[in-house]
Amino acid sequence: MGPPGAGKGTQGELLASGLGIPRFSTGDILRAAREAETELGRHAQRYMDAGDLVPDEVILGLIAEALSEPEAKAGILFDGFPRTVAQAEGLRDLLVSRGESLDTVVNLSVPADELVRRIAGRAYVEGRTDDTPETIRRRLEVYRESTEPVLAWYRAAESQVLDIDGVGTVEEIQAAIRSGLGR
Ligand code: ADP
Repeated sequence: MGPPGAGKGTQGELLASGLGIPRFSTGDILRAAREAETELGRHAQRYMDAGDLVPDEVILGLIAEALSEPEAKAGILFDGFPRTVAQAEGLRDLLVSRGESLDTVVNLSVPADELVRRIAGRAYVEGRTDDTPETIRRRLEVYRESTEPVLAWYRAAESQVLDIDGVGTVEEIQAAIRSGLGR
């Protein structure tokens, strides 16, 4: 977990490949669906372009499918999920029904001014249509309103939350995550 621009995608890819498990990024899946103009993509587009969250039922449907994939048998890394308390509750219920459990929530923290700098810089590089100044502001606001409470929910549930300082080199941050996970 972490706000937009915290480096979830970069760190998530390294971590998943290092652990030999798939990474499932809800943002990547939604962007691919939007480009392919599938029904999911068309439905998600207006939320994404406004910087708002795609409805929980849609996201939980994707997560249920991901958990059922044979590749996820040895574990799966979710990136950009859960983003609301309802999604965290939905994940808990899915895992319980499958006899599985959550290992660790990795939380990347980065100061707000640094986030805005990073996202503004990547807009040109990656061509993300949701990286406009208004959308960035909205995504940060949504993060504070809807996603920060998810961290509080996990802490209250005594799930293992690994807090990582997201400022540093990619390698330093990855090393901190791996050492925090003890793997
Ligand atoms: P960022 O973390 O930089 O905002 P993401 O790629 O994770 O980028 O997400 C991009 C957009 O996709 C979000 O603004 C939101 O509209 C949608 N999205 C991604 N994951 C979720 C989720 N778990 N729940 C609801 N919407 C999501």
